[in-house]
Amino acid sequence: MAVQDDDAYWHPGLETQSRADWRQLQLDLLKDHLRHAYDGSPYYRAAFDARGVLPSDLRTLDDLRRFPFLDKATIRDRQIAVPPFGDLVAVPEREIVYISASSGSTGVPTASPFTAKDFEEWIDYEARQFWSSGLRPTDRYAHALNFSLFVGGPCVLGAQKLGALSIHAGTLPSERLLGVLGQFRATALWTTPSYAWHLGETAQREGIAPARDLAVRRLFVAGEPGGSIPETRGRIEALWGAEVYDYYGLSDIFGSCAGMCVEKDGLHWAEDHILVEVLAPGTQEPVPEGGRGELVLTTLRKRARPIIRFRTGDVVSVTTEPCRCGRTSLRLKGVHGRLDDMLIVKGVNLFPGDVEAVVRQDPALTGEYRLVLERVDRLDRLTVEAEHRQGFNGNLEELRTRLRRQLKAATGVGAEVALLAPDTLPRAVHKAKRIDDRRQHVWS
Ligand SMILES: [Zn+2]
Repeated sequence: MAVQDDDAYWHPGLETQSRADWRQLQLDLLKDHLRHAYDGSPYYRAAFDARGVLPSDLRTLDDLRRFPFLDKATIRDRQIAVPPFGDLVAVPEREIVYISASSGSTGVPTASPFTAKDFEEWIDYEARQFWSSGLRPTDRYAHALNFSLFVGGPCVLGAQKLGALSIHAGTLPSERLLGVLGQFRATALWTTPSYAWHLGETAQREGIAPARDLAVRRLFVAGEPGGSIPETRGRIEALWGAEVYDYYGLSDIFGSCAGMCVEKDGLHWAEDHILVEVLAPGTQEPVPEGGRGELVLTTLRKRARPIIRFRTGDVVSVTTEPCRCGRTSLRLKGVHGRLDDMLIVKGVNLFPGDVEAVVRQDPALTGEYRLVLERVDRLDRLTVEAEHRQGFNGNLEELRTRLRRQLKAATGVGAEVALLAPDTLPRAVHKAKRIDDRRQHVWS
């Protein structure tokens, strides 16, 4: 029977099953998937052999820890060694029907291949996720992500499968996108958090109040931590008069692998597609639930190119407590930052997102900020630059003192605060650049 608009779930039995059933499902899928990887992919066969493990050595989910890690550099290197798609591919090429490609920071695009079944299952998952965020067939959904090779592009087909009227907007110039949103009375939109902010401010400059003049009531955001930082989300919601749902994706697996349900209390994982490990940096031991660690992912179904124990470089925390929505899947509670972006300041681990949470909750500030790191007399000095609002007529020194105290409480690091006039800092479009690290030999 088709799903009805007032149904809470896309796949009710699956989405609300017990944790024990989730684990059993994952174990069954993983056994099959490791066997498929070993039999079909020369890379995995060699990597497992080198580690002295066989797919049959996996009897419990914990046994996965005996299998080798994978990282982005290896995916790229194997693709160069065995062109064009690398020897992680575990099916004959005639079965591959779609590839996305991501450039990453290294400049060499890596391809993510899908079989027809992989693609179909992925799009069904995207439909399930959109459904959990409240999207319905009555919605008009504008997809404002890049379609050029980007794995986020086809996620629009999930909204279309769900039955929403889907507008394949792509990366239109802001003025045109605003025109499209207005003309078609779009009710839902997906962008990055920075861009949602930028687009809302652009609208205001043109005399359009998004909350009053546009019909967008749901915003999906991904690609940056902002969507899970309550202060940032709250301000985008106020600007648009819309609910903001954070999504998390990884180009080597899916467009979106996890997303917020209508409760907006963490991001539900596609646990029937991807197994999650959260490991302590350094020791690579699992951290207790709720603790911060590196997100390591293993696909459970993706036949074209299995991904086993992929180190994402994202530092996250997760929970398996039941959600108020009734779904029982593991939830991502926060992406605290990239392992690469993790700053070590005065010996303390610091993420830009920790600072963002403080800067964005203060109504005296515009919410824009930048971290400037210097080394003075061989000691680290962190200065947080933030803009006060237009028309702020309070005491700047008191504001500065208050921010210093809040930053220390939130991060554990003593920081200087530099208050700037509004519109002084560069406005971020898409991925935000907020760190100016002037220290020499930081990692030595
Ligand atoms: Zn939920």
